[in-house]
Amino acid sequence: MNCISTRGKAPAIRLHQALITGLAPDGGLYVPETLPTIDAKTIDALRAQPLATVAEVVLSPYVADSPLQASLASICEQAFAVPAPLRALRDERDHLLELFHGPTAAFKDYAARFLAGCLSALRSDDDPVTTILVATSGDTGAAVAAAFHRRPGFRVVILYPDGRVSPVQAHGLGCWGDNVRAFRVDGSFDDCQRLAKQALADAELRQQSPLTTANSISLGRLLPQAAYYAKAAIDHQARHDDVLNVIVPSGNLGNACAALVARRMGFPIGKLRLATNANPTLSDFFAGDDYRPRDAIATLANAMDVGAPSNFERLRHWHGGVAQLRNSTRAHSVDDPRIRDVIRQAPERHGTIPCPHTATGLAALQDIRHHGDCRPWAVVATAHPAKFPEIVEPLVGHTVTAAPELVRLAERAAQSVALCADYSELRRQLLAVGNPP
Ligand SMILES: *Cc1c(COP(=O)(O)O)cnc(C)c1O
Repeated sequence: MNCISTRGKAPAIRLHQALITGLAPDGGLYVPETLPTIDAKTIDALRAQPLATVAEVVLSPYVADSPLQASLASICEQAFAVPAPLRALRDERDHLLELFHGPTAAFKDYAARFLAGCLSALRSDDDPVTTILVATSGDTGAAVAAAFHRRPGFRVVILYPDGRVSPVQAHGLGCWGDNVRAFRVDGSFDDCQRLAKQALADAELRQQSPLTTANSISLGRLLPQAAYYAKAAIDHQARHDDVLNVIVPSGNLGNACAALVARRMGFPIGKLRLATNANPTLSDFFAGDDYRPRDAIATLANAMDVGAPSNFERLRHWHGGVAQLRNSTRAHSVDDPRIRDVIRQAPERHGTIPCPHTATGLAALQDIRHHGDCRPWAVVATAHPAKFPEIVEPLVGHTVTAAPELVRLAERAAQSVALCADYSELRRQLLAVGNPP
């Protein structure tokens, strides 16, 4: 399938090319030319099928007639080997879509593993080693590192802001070794992102050693996420003969866009609501203000600390304009005191312990129920609570059992390297990893 730019001024390219390219040359984001629909009979036949099979059906229209078509089944089998269970909460109309069973205990594992599988499949043996450069405020870097760790033909360079990620997140970034290098940058996430952009724009550097990124604007990170929404909606319909409404804790809106894609493709998803932390860009927009990106503010749900959601442009494109987008959904803004309250009360009220991001979704669900809504809803559980013990444990009053994935990570020694927020220093490091002695 062809992909076009949201700004309409760049040539169409094939999906497998869009996976490698970041921004379109006109500054827009690539989107599939159309969102294909899957017919009801095919969807029915997916009942009780494993996640990997659903993923293959969801993604096959996008890779038809491309070099990825032949590898799609095995890529999906690897990327979606980890289940994404839909679990009923205390009130049986309430559900949690648990996306934290992957190697780094956050939902970004699925798409990072899919993208890694695609890039491997597109590579030939005599291609030079490609460096994947990621600036991260936490979960993305770990998921990308895990997905590319020891993958032949690739190395990963991670930039993260020193002291501004949680201790468990810092460990998850620095614990890989082998073909993964983590730099803790003396600066903010914005500094990391600026350094990464400078490197990606450095033609001379890229000529010496192929360089790409795996950030959230890549379609290879967005489209695979539609698979778990499709699977959850199919399972819910099989059990309850009803559509599933979804609440997505959101920052850059990649995961929310994927839910929209799954719905447009014909899977039985009803309403889509966004939950955000105290960063007001989205809640102000949906309340009627103009869309106005701004600097991010720090909150307990740090992976959602975004002031300029990078996928907003896609969401607007798929709705055909800002007015239609504003009419189609809502954003629930949840501040830190409310996040704390929700976590404190969740074991009793919902029968679960949420991470701070998931807590924003549960707060939105409470608001929806408060207004008398009786429909079935699923809150997306974006990370495991044990990733944020310093926040969660004092609130629930006991230690949180770590996911087996996190226990395995904790057993690895961490080894990150300090880096000043200066491009010439990063450039020197990239040339050194690109040309080992
Ligand atoms: C990345 C992330 C989010 C936000 O997802 P977007 O796709 O950027 O909206 C929410 N929760 C967790 C735990 C994350 O890692």
